Amino acid sequence: MTKFLNNKLFRCLSIFLFLNFTNHPVYSSSDLAAWALKKNGVLEFRTKSNTNLKAYFQNGNQIYGDRFWIDFPGELKNPRKIKGNGPIKEIRLGKPNRGRTRLVIEFKEGTYLNPLTWRLVGFNQNIWKIKLFNPSNSFNRIGEGLVDKRIQNTKTTQNSSYLKKSVPGYLELPNVKQNKFLVVIDPGHGGSDPGAIGISGIRESDVVLEVSKIVKKLLSEKGVEVMLTRKTEIDLDLPQRVSFANKTAADIFVSIHANASRGKRKDINGLETFYYRGWKGRSLAKRIQKQILKVSPGSPDRGVKQSRFYVIKNTDMPAVLVEIGFLTGRLDSRRLEKDSHRKIIAYAIAKGILEYLSQVR
Ligand SMILES: [Zn+2]
Repeated sequence: MTKFLNNKLFRCLSIFLFLNFTNHPVYSSSDLAAWALKKNGVLEFRTKSNTNLKAYFQNGNQIYGDRFWIDFPGELKNPRKIKGNGPIKEIRLGKPNRGRTRLVIEFKEGTYLNPLTWRLVGFNQNIWKIKLFNPSNSFNRIGEGLVDKRIQNTKTTQNSSYLKKSVPGYLELPNVKQNKFLVVIDPGHGGSDPGAIGISGIRESDVVLEVSKIVKKLLSEKGVEVMLTRKTEIDLDLPQRVSFANKTAADIFVSIHANASRGKRKDINGLETFYYRGWKGRSLAKRIQKQILKVSPGSPDRGVKQSRFYVIKNTDMPAVLVEIGFLTGRLDSRRLEKDSHRKIIAYAIAKGILEYLSQVR
């Protein structure tokens, strides 16, 4: 379904347009879930709901270039700047005031823009598109997160036969006793907390949620009950994750994350798995680490380590936190951007878990 909002941007003084009013709690987390400025000059973004947006355009002055910005309900946690390319000078995600999120696109001087022709079009209630410029020469996509979640969702809710294609033989999953085990999978971060941001703008929260959903599917098919601490892009603090796991009295707890290096060093790659205490936690960590390394050739083994991360320290059951690669690393991020690798890494995690359940429990 395409719904066309016949709104124009008016170029006079400073400018504005309004779309779609809905009520929204003032200080909830940011409604902006993902965005991308694509090669063809189209800005696409996804909001959490059919949200209340305001868009503005302002001509450049001595300090700024021409700017286009959109305000979203909900507060952004981590204001940030992303360097542009082509006609884009910079993209900023900010918090103009409490309870708001602002996405600002600043153009370089001399860029030809025609805001009078701009139209913001909404798709399926929460995906929005607006063509901002015609790229003359090469412009590289800039963005954060997966705008079209529907693609991802339909894939992960389909029958898992698509998962089995192109999975190496060594990832054959072992059998365990049916209906005996309960596993809690904890996709790290979420909602307004994107976690690590990768080289191309991919976000840890999206990557680990997708991987977690596939792990759930694979384990479920083996007769293991799986509960996810979050199924969507919501904010969830660490105590909530822990109390959820402890209430379910799960057999094991597996938190899935992706890494970022300080200074975003592209040469730092690698995988690591943490546990807090006990031989069971260590054994689970070792099994998962072994499998994820197998599917990540060339990426360093950073080892199985003891750590006091909140979610593994405070959960009652054997618990691990797995880092499936560096989104800031050249090698790892290229892999983690691919659906095929996310699937394979999910297989590896599922295999480590099933081996543990079949041998240790
Ligand atoms: Zn993380």
